[in-house]
This record gives sequence, structure tokens and C-alpha cells, in this order.
Amino acid sequence: MSEWVFIDLPANMIEGLPEPEQPFPVRRERMPIYDELKAEGFPLLFVADELDAYLEERPDRVERYRREAAHLFLCAGIEAVMDTCIEPSLHYFKLAIWLDPANLSDRMNYAMSLHQLERREEAVAEYREVIQRGSVWDWWQAWMLCAEELIFLGRAAEAMPLLLEAKKTIPDSHQFWTVLADCEERLTPTCPHCGAPQHEKMRFCGNCGGKLG
Ligand SMILES: [Zn+2]
Repeated sequence: MSEWVFIDLPANMIEGLPEPEQPFPVRRERMPIYDELKAEGFPLLFVADELDAYLEERPDRVERYRREAAHLFLCAGIEAVMDTCIEPSLHYFKLAIWLDPANLSDRMNYAMSLHQLERREEAVAEYREVIQRGSVWDWWQAWMLCAEELIFLGRAAEAMPLLLEAKKTIPDSHQFWTVLADCEERLTPTCPHCGAPQHEKMRFCGNCGGKLG
């Protein structure tokens, strides 16, 4: 068991986190590190790591910290992503999901980190969780990014219904229309002889004259 001291987090240190109702745990021997880091700005990742270690040692305290910890871990994950530490961000997002499984922001961020790491099947599974629980009007990015991964995986036919669903919201996003165009192109039948796209139902290829179908 570690020896813990408790620090009062300054209010408004973390965006969206109301004034913490609990002091946050830090291992006594690590307090000098905290003091040093603190001089350069709020050490969010350090505080998150200490809280993670604390909750592991004291599962009986999970309830006490649940709400604030979930938000802290989400913010830590986002900060890790901004520092381009994508791999470590996964751990923070997983903790946030564990504490608050219904929170779609946690899951969306987790999926996007998997996406960046090209762990495509896992990313698709997480996007699908968001798609199942969220409204396309709020979460159309999950539809788009899931489709993008499916296209990478060679499953454009599976991607298209997602894109058509997201299209209803008329996304104001260049990326969306690029993914949609890419998907349409992949689903356009091509001539078996020369590979030219065949946009209409024709008997012969307009490019090479080869017989189609
Ligand atoms: Zn042809």
C-alpha cells in the first residue's frame, strides 16, 4: 500500500470540470514531482496517473471519484492526443469508459485513437457502439469515420449505408464528401476487360468495347 496525500485541485483547472468536490490523491513520495510540474502549469497527466494508481489500490473509493475521475481521464486522453501520445491516450479513454460507460464522448475519442493507430477492426467496433447509442444528428462523425475504416478494410458495401444515413444531416465537412465520393467510386462496377468504370447498365464497355455482364 502506498502512502497517499491529498491535494485540493484549483478550480477551473480542467475545462468542464466543476470545482472538484474531493481532494485528489498523490503518492507521498511523488509530491516533489507534482510540485515541480505544477510550476509549469497544471500537470493533468500526472494527476490522472496518480488517481489511476489510487483507484487500483482502493477500489472502494471508485464511487466517490466516479464522476470527476471519468471527466479527468477523458481530458487526460485528449491532452495525450494533443501531445501526439496516441498509444497512452487509449489507457485514459478506457478508464473514462470504465467509469462512465454511457458517455459517447469517451467512446468516440477512444475510437478515434484506435483509428489513428490504424487498429481498424477495433475502431469499427467502437464506432458501432456510438452509432448504436447515439443520434446521427449529433454523432454523424462516427458514421463517417466508421465508413472510412470499412473502406480501408475493403468493405465499401458495408460503408455505404452508413454514409447515406450520415448524408441526411448534410455534414458541413469536406472529409465527409470525400469519403462518400471514394465509397461511390469503389462501388461503381468496372469493366472486367479494361477496368474502366461502368456508370450505366450497358452491354458493352464504352472504353474497350468488351462485352459486359
Ligand atoms: Zn473495357
